[in-house]
Amino acid sequence: MDPFLRSQRNAFVTHGVDRVHNRRWDDAWLAQRIDSASTRFIVVWQDQILLDDHAPVHLSPASGAEVERLMRQCPNASRDIVLLGCGGETTYFAVGIGEACEPLETDTGELGQFLDLRTAALQLDPEEGALAAQAKAMVHWHRQHRYCGRCGGPTQSEEGGYLRRCTEGTCGQAHFPRVDPAIIVLVTHDDHCLLGRQPHWPPGRYSNVAGFAEPGESLETAVAREVWEETGIKIKSLRYHSSQPWPFPQSLMVGFLAEAETLEITLKDGELEDARWFSREMIRQELENGTLGLPSPYSISFHLIEDWFDVEDNGCLQALLDGGA
Ligand SMILES: [Zn+2]
Repeated sequence: MDPFLRSQRNAFVTHGVDRVHNRRWDDAWLAQRIDSASTRFIVVWQDQILLDDHAPVHLSPASGAEVERLMRQCPNASRDIVLLGCGGETTYFAVGIGEACEPLETDTGELGQFLDLRTAALQLDPEEGALAAQAKAMVHWHRQHRYCGRCGGPTQSEEGGYLRRCTEGTCGQAHFPRVDPAIIVLVTHDDHCLLGRQPHWPPGRYSNVAGFAEPGESLETAVAREVWEETGIKIKSLRYHSSQPWPFPQSLMVGFLAEAETLEITLKDGELEDARWFSREMIRQELENGTLGLPSPYSISFHLIEDWFDVEDNGCLQALLDGGA
């Protein structure tokens, strides 16, 4: 399968919304769209999305009073508005309401409830999930960059929310949205794959090796380093699989499949409490016995394992999880 198609299976990957990059500088157009009846706002508060019945609540400009009501606990709180893009006749914006604000249950009761995106991801329509992820990541970035990292002066939002500029004297430093690249890799050898678990995970849960790329590294050297640090395994080859925006809070997961050169596991850096070589049959049996938990099907980590597992007559990992195999 082509990497473009593989990425489309990962949650939070946009399918049809145009980010209208060339309109971010057009303040008159932005003002007109913010007031348009067809415009919709996705509300973010403390990294949570306002959802109703497993779908983001899309507030219209006419429901601006509802946002004001949500903010009434903190009249001086800032509010961030970020252009997300256009789909059909609709323009989408994210509205981040103040971190210190504490919307009351009664305030959100008619609209929905604020939920963590990890909790909601499996139920979201793919396009809704992509918009919610973009909204969450952008609002988080605004919250984290209210002051200039160069001089400490206050910054203000420009270009539809894709730039924050320092307002202090002659500084004027431009700050752009941050994305932190992280690698995730399924290491294999013959009929086995390497999975590990972190101490705080639920019992039986295993997943791929993952970690952030560091300054001065390529993605490939980051993969080799993370696998070595976490498991003591050396890899000898690598191929790209797909990528996934991972707004927890602002990562881009870049997925690889790697082949092991060495097999002996040593938990070198203490990040994992256990790592094992699993055969396909072991995975099948442990899933059937309920002794193994795998990453959520919305994640790139699941698709890496699935694409390795689902070969020839082996069967289907998703069907195993659904109890149908
Ligand atoms: Zn500055």
